[in-house]
Amino acid sequence: MSSKSFTHFCPVCRAPVKSHLHDSLTLKTHIQIVLITLFVSGLVHLIFGFEAALKSTVVYFIFWAIAEFLHWAQMRDRTKCRACGFDPILYRKDWRKARDQVESRLRGVVDQILNEQLKSKKVAQKTPGQNDAAAPKPANNPSSETRP
Ligand SMILES: [Zn+2]
Repeated sequence: MSSKSFTHFCPVCRAPVKSHLHDSLTLKTHIQIVLITLFVSGLVHLIFGFEAALKSTVVYFIFWAIAEFLHWAQMRDRTKCRACGFDPILYRKDWRKARDQVESRLRGVVDQILNEQLKSKKVAQKTPGQNDAAAPKPANNPSSETRP
């Protein structure tokens, strides 16, 4: 059981990705699983008896499998790039899906930026009109008018 902390750069956007990973579950996690198993076995003992409680200790392996899955999902999530969404594990399996993921995420970012620019343009267009309405209108000065 070793812990590795490393930084690598995303091959797509070159953003640094920091990861602190354990190869497997920690001792603390195994102790937590044992405590949960003992609690479940105690409940089973109260309801069904001692033999059933002994048999119920098998749930340890179910909890262990769940914990391993959660650990794997956490490790996989930490290897993804936060900036562009590049997933190196998915890239090893299917590079087209990884590319589609990055493209859809970047497209979403571009759309969001464009929407914000449109909103700011609309606000900028409304603001001068509001300022014109609020600003004092120039009085009709007969001397400035040039009528024949
Ligand atoms: Zn990236």
